[in-house]
Amino acid sequence: MSLPEGTVEKTVTSADHVHTAATVRRRQRTFVPPSELHPHRPTTADTTLLDQLFYATVDECTDPDCRPLLLDRVAVDAGATRKLVEWACHIASEMYCELPAELVDEDKAATTVFHPSPFFCRLAAQYQNPGPTFTTLFATYDTAQRRQVADNAVALVDGFQVWWTDFLFQ
Ligand SMILES: [Zn+2]
Repeated sequence: MSLPEGTVEKTVTSADHVHTAATVRRRQRTFVPPSELHPHRPTTADTTLLDQLFYATVDECTDPDCRPLLLDRVAVDAGATRKLVEWACHIASEMYCELPAELVDEDKAATTVFHPSPFFCRLAAQYQNPGPTFTTLFATYDTAQRRQVADNAVALVDGFQVWWTDFLFQ
């Protein structure tokens, strides 16, 4: 199911507020939100929800329930989580030409300020390999693991918005 062009943007409420492109606090650089990655590729993912999670991260929302609730909602949807990871890996691979060891190697990644979960590193390692391996690996992840990789995906792009390529090398 693809969204028709001009679809009115839905807002996903968490506590009593929303995070959208219109309200987000700007950082030094901006990347396309998840909804704008391959917009014409069919997806069942709630891309408005993904965008809100991203913008809540960029905004450093201080509501203690906000990001956790959004992450919970993303994590229960395997397709949504996958789109988020692919979005982050796509941006990272465009920036570095190929994904650096600091993303795909669990030990090296652990030394960065980003220090993603091993589950994210394993997906990133497979992202560059065409074929079914990414799909096979992703299918083994449960909701808690998807929640971690979703959290990592938005944190990665948020870090890029502040630190650019230095994010993984400081
Ligand atoms: Zn919030």
